[in-house]
Amino acid sequence: MGIQRIEVYEVTLRYKEPFVISAGTSTENRNTLVKIITDYDVFGWGEASPSKRVTNETPETILKTLDKIGPRLIGMCPLRIAQDVDLMDAIVAHNPSAKAAIDLALHDVLGKTARKPTWRLLGGFRERVLTDITLSIKSPNEMAKDAVKAVKMGFKALKVKVGVNPKEDVERIKLIREAVEPKIAVRIDANQGWTVTQAIDALKKLDKFHIEFVEQPTDAKNTRGLAKVRKESPVSIMADESVHSPADALQLIKANAVDMINIKLMKSGGIHNARKIAHIAEAANMPCMIGCMGESTVGITAAVHFAAATKNVQYADLDCDILLADKLVSKGGAVVKDSERIPGDEAGYGITELDETLLRKPVRVYGK
Ligand SMILES: [Mg+2]
Repeated sequence: MGIQRIEVYEVTLRYKEPFVISAGTSTENRNTLVKIITDYDVFGWGEASPSKRVTNETPETILKTLDKIGPRLIGMCPLRIAQDVDLMDAIVAHNPSAKAAIDLALHDVLGKTARKPTWRLLGGFRERVLTDITLSIKSPNEMAKDAVKAVKMGFKALKVKVGVNPKEDVERIKLIREAVEPKIAVRIDANQGWTVTQAIDALKKLDKFHIEFVEQPTDAKNTRGLAKVRKESPVSIMADESVHSPADALQLIKANAVDMINIKLMKSGGIHNARKIAHIAEAANMPCMIGCMGESTVGITAAVHFAAATKNVQYADLDCDILLADKLVSKGGAVVKDSERIPGDEAGYGITELDETLLRKPVRVYGK
């Protein structure tokens, strides 16, 4: 029972409209798809959606990393994921999104080999995962209109991007809150855009608008700054850019710097390490969210399976594929219904068809 062949594909997926956060604007994502084929007729899909800003990865570094680890994985057992991850870490440090592509494909293989959906094999805690939808940065008025549109589409939670100008950010949330019913959850994400003083001041003003939590208000590297914001903020603080690995999670918990952690498979190196972060946080009585970078429905479906499996993943921001115009998965994967993502009961991730015109030919093949 071994990995026989690994195929690598590069895809470009365009957004429906430019996606704007405090750190910049994206119009498309260049992602890397991995297909792991075993010697017993089972294969699995994985994906890397690199972020230069967050993990210092690009499509080029993804390919370079896969060139190092891909050939060495041939012949390894796809079910011994702990051993496979250990091998990847021994070959190359960092590069979590490249490793995630492999890890995600292995978890698809795991489910297909057992003929069970991956989420059930990993714990099977819940059958559906409530996701928010992200509102990218525009003028406060336009964002209020986008909020109404999203609620009409059925979304019950909004993740609002802020972190540009604190005064305007308060106006954004005020207008959004006035435009949607109180039962709609509103969470915000500053993407490190505020200083410590700005964050404390803005969060004190924002508290009355019933904010669930704020993601990464300040600089990811400034743990003491984050701890200060946490101490003075009436709104719960969630780490995103500050936490990549299980070790990062432990360090922030020890520093009393956060109330919650946003896990992303592209930061953690895949599901294997994401589970460790969720469990460390659970032991500290700290809920987690599962977020995303720019994944297609392949990477998002893997994240839905992780979230459905894991009790402590209590919030989800799994919407990137909804915001993309190009749909890579043409059949199967986690569907969206009334703000919920449903992993389904097909084996593995249940992804049965990809759009061949987007996928094209593999750019790399390891093994035979
Ligand atoms: Mg974030």
